[in-house]
Formats: sequence, C-alpha cells, structure tokens
Amino acid sequence: MSDRAVLHVRGRVLAGPDDVRDELWVVGGRITYDRPTAAQDVRTVEGWALPGLVDAHCHVGLGAHGPVDRDTAEKQALTDREAGTLLIRDAGSPSDTRWVDDRDDLPKIIRAGRHIARTRRYIRGYAHEIEPDALVTYVAQEARRGDGWVKLVGDWIDRDLGDLAPSWPRAEVEAAIAEAHRLGARVTAHCFAENSLRDLVEAGIDCIEHATGLTDDLIPLFAERGVAIVPTLVNIATFPKLAKGGEEKFPRWSAHMRRLYERRYDTVRNAYDAGIPVFVGTDAGGSLPHGLVAAEVEELVTAGLPADQALSATTWGARRWLGRPGLDEGAPADLVVYETDPRADVRVLAAPRRVVLNGRVMS
Ligand SMILES: [Zn+2]
Repeated sequence: MSDRAVLHVRGRVLAGPDDVRDELWVVGGRITYDRPTAAQDVRTVEGWALPGLVDAHCHVGLGAHGPVDRDTAEKQALTDREAGTLLIRDAGSPSDTRWVDDRDDLPKIIRAGRHIARTRRYIRGYAHEIEPDALVTYVAQEARRGDGWVKLVGDWIDRDLGDLAPSWPRAEVEAAIAEAHRLGARVTAHCFAENSLRDLVEAGIDCIEHATGLTDDLIPLFAERGVAIVPTLVNIATFPKLAKGGEEKFPRWSAHMRRLYERRYDTVRNAYDAGIPVFVGTDAGGSLPHGLVAAEVEELVTAGLPADQALSATTWGARRWLGRPGLDEGAPADLVVYETDPRADVRVLAAPRRVVLNGRVMS
C-alpha cells in the first residue's frame, strides 16, 4: 500500500470491551476514526476487527536446544503473525532478535532478555545459569538488555530432592527485584510449584508464568498485590507426557506434575474469580510450536473465563498491561479481522480473515 492509500475497515470494530464502532480508517499506517476527505485509493476490509493479538509468553529465537538462526526466528515470528499475534512479550531468549525491530512486517516484541536460572536448574542451553550471589548483577544486565522485563526461573526440579523446589533464597530475590524496579524493569518468573510463590510475591514480583502452584491460600496475596499470571495452558497440557517420561527416575516429581495438571482449570478459574489479572501466553519456542494463540484463548474459556475476558487477556487488557495501544486514534494500525463475532465464539480466532500490521494487509 502506498502512503496515500487508505484502508477502510468496516463491520464491527471492537475497540474495547464496551466500545464497539462501525468503522475505522488506516491512513499512513495509523488508525483514525475520522473519514479521510481526499482518499485516492481505498481498500475495504469487512468483518469483526480486534486489536492485534498479544502473546504474553512466547520465545522468538529459541528452539528445543537453545538459540536458533535468524531464518528460523523469522519463521517463528511469521507463524505468530499469521495467527494474528502482532505483539509478543518474549519471555526469555538466548538470541539477539533486535533486528526484528527494523522489520515492519513482523510482530512487535517486548523482550525480557535471557532467562536467568540457577545452575543446572533449567532446560540446557536456554538460560544464564548462575548462583544466588550473582543474581542482582545478572538481573541488572538483563534489565538493561530487555524492553522493560526480566525473566527468572523461579523453580525447577531439584534432582537430589526428586521434586520441584524454589531456585532462589528470599534475600537475593528481594535485592534482585528491587534492582530491576530501580532500573525501570518489571520482573516475572517461571513457577510450576506452590512453594516458590510466596517469597517471589512478597519480594515484589510483577508476574508469574504458568502459576500452576497457585493454591487458595496464596490467591489473596496475588490479588492484593496485583500480581498477574500467564497460565500457558497449552503448555500445561504437556505435563502428563513430561510426568510419564520422568516417572522412573523422579516418581515424586512426576506425581506432583500430574496433580498440578489435574487442577489447572480450577487454578486459573479461582485466580480469575479473585481478581488476579490473567493474560494469554502460549510458551511458543523451545518445545511448543508458534501460532497457538487461539488455542490458548479457548483454553482460558474452558477454564471458566467469560469469552470477553479471555479476549481481553489477548487484546485490550493485555495491551494496557504492557503499555501498548489498541485500536486508538493515531495508534499504529495493528489489527485482525474475523468473519464472525469473536465474543460469541472465541474459536473464530483460529481463522483470521485479514491480518493488518502497521497498516498493511498481510494476509
Ligand atoms: Zn517459556
């Protein structure tokens, strides 16, 4: 589309949960609700428009064994784009994906730097693996490298114990989170277990990934402090397979993973009911494929979120949380158009009719 061309999106524009309009225009790659006066060349797209979807837990540049080459990272980002994901919070990547920022045909990425894990306490090749005395230094480094987020691995299997166990002592994690906040970064942590959560939340963490160990006694603490969760239910779905694989060597861990899996929907539903912010994340990269955003929204609905709230967790609410605009006047035109009302049935998200990124129709 040339700079003078105009895109006219009409039908129903879902600018907010209670803000539905009939049409918008895209002029110079940006959204406007004022009909342009001297349009030369107007292309029309019809349907139900949502802000570009957010995948708040995704990894670009990460594969099963660690960093991947640029072509592979590009394919990952393109797969997300085709699925309608136009804003990614990258929850840890060992690759430098800064080059994506110069590409207006790829999703926008908010980075959390590289994962920070305890030595031998995470998937090999992914993280900076360090001991607690270096935590503050590494958190400061990744806070400077990222786009306002830092990612910790909060718990992982302790092979001596044969079960999940917290990775960090309370004092170090408190100092590290304080340092991140001083540098203007928010902190999130991968947590499967129950007993890693209290220390992290009381230390001031901003978000917990997976949060399968969020039990009823911890829910009020999360709610009171406004700590968000990104459940990644499409990833939790793989727990039984993981449990089976580790059965012989680590039976306790295996049984623990199964319990967490079995109550996953109750966990998310109880968190939502208590007012804990819940966001969509797929955990793409590493072991899961990219492009699963629609499946995760559907999982949140299965867990018991109302459809409009599950949508908000990948659109209006998620964008507000990440400090990025939605379908606002003057905002970059990042939107997805569907054939039917996604509020009536979120499964329509699996088949976008049109994906518009920076004002250009991508598909
Ligand atoms: Zn992840």
